[in-house]
Amino acid sequence: MIKIKSPVIKSQEQIWTSEWSQRSTASEIKMWDFYLERPWILKYVPRYGIVLEAGCGLGRYVFYLAALGIDIIGIDFVSEALHKIQEYMKKNKVYSPFCQGDVRKLCFKDNSLSGYISLGVIEHFEEGPDLAMQEAYRVLRPGGIAIITTPSVSFSQIYLQSKLKVKKSIKYLIKKIIRYPIYKPYFFQYWYLPKTLKKYLEKSGFKIVLSQGADLMYSFYELGYQPARKSWFTELLFKLENTPMASIGAQAISISYKPAQQMYCFLCGHFNVHIKELTASIPLCQDCQKKPLAKHYIKANRLKFQSSMLIHPEFNNDQETCDYCGKEYAVSKILEYYGFSKNVCSICLKNSEINLNLSNTYIQPVWRLRT
Ligand SMILES: [Zn+2]
Ligand SMILES: [Zn+2]
Repeated sequence: MIKIKSPVIKSQEQIWTSEWSQRSTASEIKMWDFYLERPWILKYVPRYGIVLEAGCGLGRYVFYLAALGIDIIGIDFVSEALHKIQEYMKKNKVYSPFCQGDVRKLCFKDNSLSGYISLGVIEHFEEGPDLAMQEAYRVLRPGGIAIITTPSVSFSQIYLQSKLKVKKSIKYLIKKIIRYPIYKPYFFQYWYLPKTLKKYLEKSGFKIVLSQGADLMYSFYELGYQPARKSWFTELLFKLENTPMASIGAQAISISYKPAQQMYCFLCGHFNVHIKELTASIPLCQDCQKKPLAKHYIKANRLKFQSSMLIHPEFNNDQETCDYCGKEYAVSKILEYYGFSKNVCSICLKNSEINLNLSNTYIQPVWRLRT
């Protein structure tokens, strides 16, 4: 006899409560390059003003970016996530601000934040991403940067979803024949092509800096591939990641800003950028356009990791010598060496010039599975 399980209607809150209850903040931080989106975040996250991670889950990027000296707040609507974060902070004697809330109705004033980060959040609203984007636009100050990513319609998704469609159609047919009750399956998420995500952002008033696809590794992982050390295929995938081929990967990534006649400068944080004088891809004042770091921001080029990928590296808990100040420092047990190919102590890392330089020139992916 054919046994058909009846579908269970689940709310987003139930889905995420069960998701986060199986994981820990520390294990999430350790897999910071699981979606290969770190170069975008590090290159464009504002070093001045307050940055919000809207839909922060277990706080992976909040703790990581706070270590870079970024003034960041995490918000999530699931109590289980906030509970796990509290546990992590108590155990590791670290502190970052978090609050509970809905990203479609934020508790921040208009024009109050310098940055808005949203990684795999806005695709979970059945009514579409407009409300969340309008809120992002409202709370960002003029020139404020939005870093928004969603899953993309990648080649692996096209394959997996068509397979699922066939399976569902057969199930539907069988249920119809045996007159089994048919329920509407619960909604989980949408997949957006980079150009679709870009359209939504433009509709909300954002000016696009970069919009592209990324993460071939995850697409192959979805199809069953396990990245391994010293594998030619893993190396090939990583090499392709730094080419336009990555556009067919698992993530749609966007960098944009809130345009206005007068805006805050990305490099000095002053309210001194006039849109008529702006020649860079993001808001930079006239003085900052002459700084050496400005060369990374004049044109918005496709982003790359700068050093070869480390697959499942062992944790290094030793002392290292900082390449910037020459002092010995203890490597962080969870944040490790921060994913750069240079040694940097936690004090030097909080210098925005140093961390911007590292983020543009020495970024190295560290690929680990979820544990
Ligand atoms: Zn400036
Ligand atoms: Zn140092």
